[in-house]
Amino acid sequence: MSVLKTEKVGINFGGLKAVDSVDLEIGDEVLGLIGPNGSGKTTLLNIISGIYRASSGKVLLNDEDITSLGPNQVRSKGIARTFQTNRLCLNLSVIDNMLLGLYCQQKTKWWQTVFRPSVSLQEIHEGISRCYEVMSYFNPGLVSHAYELISTLPLIDRRRIEIARAIVGNPDLLLLDEPTAGLNTEETHQMINDIGKIRTQGNKMSIIIIEHDMSVISKISNRVVCLNAGKKIAEGTFSEVSQNEKVCTAYLGG
Ligand code: ADP
Repeated sequence: MSVLKTEKVGINFGGLKAVDSVDLEIGDEVLGLIGPNGSGKTTLLNIISGIYRASSGKVLLNDEDITSLGPNQVRSKGIARTFQTNRLCLNLSVIDNMLLGLYCQQKTKWWQTVFRPSVSLQEIHEGISRCYEVMSYFNPGLVSHAYELISTLPLIDRRRIEIARAIVGNPDLLLLDEPTAGLNTEETHQMINDIGKIRTQGNKMSIIIIEHDMSVISKISNRVVCLNAGKKIAEGTFSEVSQNEKVCTAYLGG
């Protein structure tokens, strides 16, 4: 069964069709989303995560229509994401950022959030222990930074924490937007290794990853979709897509 489906989803900005009638289906897998600059990759993730409302088509999560939901509702339905530029709270600690991620992803109804009493001590203890559990398997090195401010940490740790914050609520679908941007070669290898651990913990989290670095896509993805000018132009294994004539032409600007 598919976790996420987009059916002929599209969005216009003025006269520009940034995403044009894209069908996407993702099951229990890592899907690499590639395409030249401006091809609509981030816009598609923005539609899926509720940041943009699609002008046409549908987005279905576990067969439920989520097309018209906003980002907070989408998050509580089970889609978490990271951004090209870090969106962590710089003056909060690692653990506080992760706790924020955890509470934002809780699958509560809106009235439970509005009318619930303040968070109990037991909930805080359980939340902290869940944060430690995630840090320990995703990257044990994060544990020693748990009470440090984000502003004191290097870029690679900030990127790791953004992912840890996204997975702490155990979403059904994780969207990663260029997680290795700005990292050097050695750090990129470390990040590939960390991301590879997300799906080895017995959870079934599906992942869509946007990356410009094709070595990352080839190592991480089970399947690849390529966009160009807002349209899906190819789909298949990394080697199939990378040899596809339309894909080669799109990257060469033909
Ligand atoms: P990619 O992630 O593949 O580099 P984007 O999804 O960021 O591409 O952008 C696709 C196209 O949509 C680009 O031409 C971009 O300028 C345009 N676009 C994206 N967001 C907006 C917006 N909010 N308003 C107007 N145009 C936008």
